[in-house]
Amino acid sequence: MDCDLRSPLFLIHLFMSTFLPALCVIYPLNEVNLLDSKASQGELGWISYPSHGWEEISGVDEHYTPIRTFQVCNVMEYSQNNWLRTNWIPRQSAQKIYVELKFTLRDCNSIPLVLGTCKETFNLLYLETDDDQGSHFREHQYLKIDTIAADESFTQTDLGDRILKLNIEVREVGPLTKKGFYLAFQDVGACVALVSVRVYFKKCPYTVRNLASFPDTVPMDSQSLVEVKGSCVNHSKEEEPPRMYCSTEGEWLVPIGKCLCNQGYEERSSTCQTCRAGFYKSGFGNTECSKCPPHSFSHHEGSLHCVCEKNYFRAEGDPASMSCTRPPSAPRNVISSINETSVILEWSWPDNTGGRRDITFAVLCKRCRSVPADGSQRCEPCRSNVRFVPRATGLYNTTVTVTDLLAHTNYTFEIEAQNGVSSLAPQMRQYAAVTITTNQAAPSAVSGIRKEKTTRNSVSLAWQEPERPNGIILDYEIKYYEKEEQETSYTILRARGCNVTLGGLKPNTAYLLQIRARTAAGYGASSTTFQFETSPDSAFSISSESSQVVLIAISSAVAIILLTVLLYVLIGRVCCRSKSKHPDEKRLHFGNGHLRLPGIRTYIDPHTYEDPSQAVHEFAKELDASCIAIDKVVGAGEFGEVCSGRLRLPSKKEICVAIKTLKGGYTDKQRRDFLAEASIMGQFDHPNIIRLEGVVTRSKPVMIVTEYMENGSLDSFLRKHDAQFTGIQLVGMLRGIASGMKYLSDMGYVHRDLAARNILVNSNLVCKVSDFGLSRVLEDDPEGAYTTRGGKIPIRWTAPEAIAYRKFTSASDAWSYGIVLWEVMSYGERPYWEMSNQDVIKAVDEGYRLPPPMDCPATLYQLMLDCWQKERNNRPKFEQIVSILDKLIRNPGSLKITANTTSRPANLLLDRSSLEVPSMGTMGDWMDPMRTLPCKEAFSGVSYSSCDTIAKTSTEDLKKVGVTIVGPQKKIVSSLKALDSNTKNGPVPV
Ligand code: AMP
Repeated sequence: MDCDLRSPLFLIHLFMSTFLPALCVIYPLNEVNLLDSKASQGELGWISYPSHGWEEISGVDEHYTPIRTFQVCNVMEYSQNNWLRTNWIPRQSAQKIYVELKFTLRDCNSIPLVLGTCKETFNLLYLETDDDQGSHFREHQYLKIDTIAADESFTQTDLGDRILKLNIEVREVGPLTKKGFYLAFQDVGACVALVSVRVYFKKCPYTVRNLASFPDTVPMDSQSLVEVKGSCVNHSKEEEPPRMYCSTEGEWLVPIGKCLCNQGYEERSSTCQTCRAGFYKSGFGNTECSKCPPHSFSHHEGSLHCVCEKNYFRAEGDPASMSCTRPPSAPRNVISSINETSVILEWSWPDNTGGRRDITFAVLCKRCRSVPADGSQRCEPCRSNVRFVPRATGLYNTTVTVTDLLAHTNYTFEIEAQNGVSSLAPQMRQYAAVTITTNQAAPSAVSGIRKEKTTRNSVSLAWQEPERPNGIILDYEIKYYEKEEQETSYTILRARGCNVTLGGLKPNTAYLLQIRARTAAGYGASSTTFQFETSPDSAFSISSESSQVVLIAISSAVAIILLTVLLYVLIGRVCCRSKSKHPDEKRLHFGNGHLRLPGIRTYIDPHTYEDPSQAVHEFAKELDASCIAIDKVVGAGEFGEVCSGRLRLPSKKEICVAIKTLKGGYTDKQRRDFLAEASIMGQFDHPNIIRLEGVVTRSKPVMIVTEYMENGSLDSFLRKHDAQFTGIQLVGMLRGIASGMKYLSDMGYVHRDLAARNILVNSNLVCKVSDFGLSRVLEDDPEGAYTTRGGKIPIRWTAPEAIAYRKFTSASDAWSYGIVLWEVMSYGERPYWEMSNQDVIKAVDEGYRLPPPMDCPATLYQLMLDCWQKERNNRPKFEQIVSILDKLIRNPGSLKITANTTSRPANLLLDRSSLEVPSMGTMGDWMDPMRTLPCKEAFSGVSYSSCDTIAKTSTEDLKKVGVTIVGPQKKIVSSLKALDSNTKNGPVPV
């Protein structure tokens, strides 16, 4: 190419027509320009020395915008030393600056006859000063930054022409300490055009992260990071002090801490905005404002709570998210069964619980008489000695026994259902009433027998009227006999009043005596046996006041001791009898079904019981240890061994059972926690929930007995039978789990620890949900990891909102169900393989999800993704999951379309790999998107030359190169197969 080498137009024209479009650049936000030669449209006024060296030239870009450039091209002459110096550039706050040069430089070979004189580099230098030195210029003061050479002088066009190429070079200078500096360009004989010079420094630009704002920050020149404290945006407060680091590259790194929107505010576009009317937010946090719950409203923006509608209330302790509620309607169907002076009252739950589950019942007893004058009823509260079993108020069950009533008396019982808001609306309270008349009853036992006077042949006694005479006492029967004669002969006397004198007795003899009262209803119960002795015959024993006192004292003491022992034995018996009856009674109530009313959420948290052992007996049957035979140990639970064995109940067939034992040396709390599982399990009755047979709590060891599941836990079962089931079999198992979970969510029970390890499988492949408990569940689970908010959570199985702020719901159970689905379809693979819990939380939060297991039907993978929706309300309900699986079972053909061949969302961390396989260059490149797979290094040393080789790669081969984790192995093998089928047309680039 011929050209005039000294023509500025030549150079300018070349780069204008070829490169300028590329110069229209928007600079990155984190770069602050100190000088940009392109921005100047007039003369730059830089100093050129000597004057025939660098020349300033004007040109225009493709938009006809004038720009200023410099060129020099004295390539034919020896000893060139041409300087170009910029104006003084104030440093501002920069410590380190960057100089970006855009220039063209001609290759000496392309210029004829210049050998020996032509150079292909120029020098970049700088000088720091505190002030502008005007035109004063001294070469030797300048420090060299670098020698600048062109990457490539020419480039070839499509038409075969050689054109000059625009070079871009960037150099760093620093640390700078003075107020400003000059740059200088020294040419020693090259043909160079300086198209633009830009000097800039980097800063971390103003940003808002985690609701904290961080100001513009200039990084340090050294390698260290600048720690910057953030300030919470308006209407938010610090949860943990927000901080970030500004790197030397002007990038914000490692955001720590965060701010939370105040109550009544929610996060929108990195700001905290007021909740709209009809919405509220009662706590701090970056959750959205919630819609007012039913029967409440908020007319103003920024509400912390919603106000209840008229006649609706919120109890103290009700969360703001709860609907406003009302007192319940009256109990229904009250039935009374009278037994002499006792009555058993039973009733049904009210039709309307007022929207609450904390229903208890209270029974008020009134004694009513009709007033003969006007025929009206006059009622007064019952006597305080009327007894209610178990109690009169706070009843959880729909029955109470009232004893110690008067015989032949009218009583009215008012039974009220109460809930947490009953006390707030006394005017709305309703009760059901029943009136009864007690029967005729014999009097209760005579008590308080005492000796008034003793002689050699007689004794005077007195006693108290029976506590409950139940009618008019006609007389008392006094039966006595000599102690020695053991009741072989006795005497009976009658007395009208409460005292008697027995005569004709032997001196110095011990007698035993019992008294009972008689009414029209017959004899009452006999008093306890009373002993007395007559006075001795001797002179010594002649009745004197003092000796009588001593005798009375001794005999009273003996009587008291005897009485106490007798009472003790009697009370003991009564208690034992009532205790042993207890469980069956409770069982009966339970079986009768007040806990099974349709439409009512019926799970009762055993911790709401004051006495947790009451909950166990409410929901679990007490088994006699002698009915249980233990065969062998099959597993280990947190509290002791799990054994298999047999249970034979009287007149029932022997069945196989699993027996969980509580090992010795347990604390009270451990016993309670152990039995809490039975209290929960005992409330469920569903073919896909493990069935409780009963508990042993009255002998040791304490045991929980459940149905036996021959194939143990699902995760190990699947691993043992890798790839051995048909799609339909797997879907059948999944359907069972979903059905069990539907039942639990209908009952209002949130499992919190749904995972394949907590599903048990029986010999017919029926899967049942197990491992119930409250906090214990997670304490027990080896997958439980402590979170920053305390408490243990099985991270890999748990929905993000449950990890972040313990929002456990049936929707978080649905997330876990998605993970179980993935576990099942990958035959017991560990979710997220060996990733750390922290990485799992981060990846999930950033929107990444597990990839489809090998050969996973597309519909099932779609179901998993639905279960893993970040917004919990968008996740399917268990009812929907059951129906989706039912459809699949009815139409098994749909299982043939596998997820590996359908298009999937692009936000899948592990999924992208299979989508991108065909276009990838090397195995290492291909592994890159699978950032979490730990085998990338192992692979990068292996090269493959053809599709055949790749397709033949087996898991064995992968083991050889160190990929030992099953997940990545399967993933890689399946992806290699996909690669094979997708790239049959040519060799894979290595
Ligand atoms: P768990 O304490 O409930 O996690 O039980 C520990 C282990 O005991 C489980 O992983 C099972 O292998 C075994 N196991 C528990 N319950 C049963 C059961 N009902 N039938 C068979 N094996 C069981």
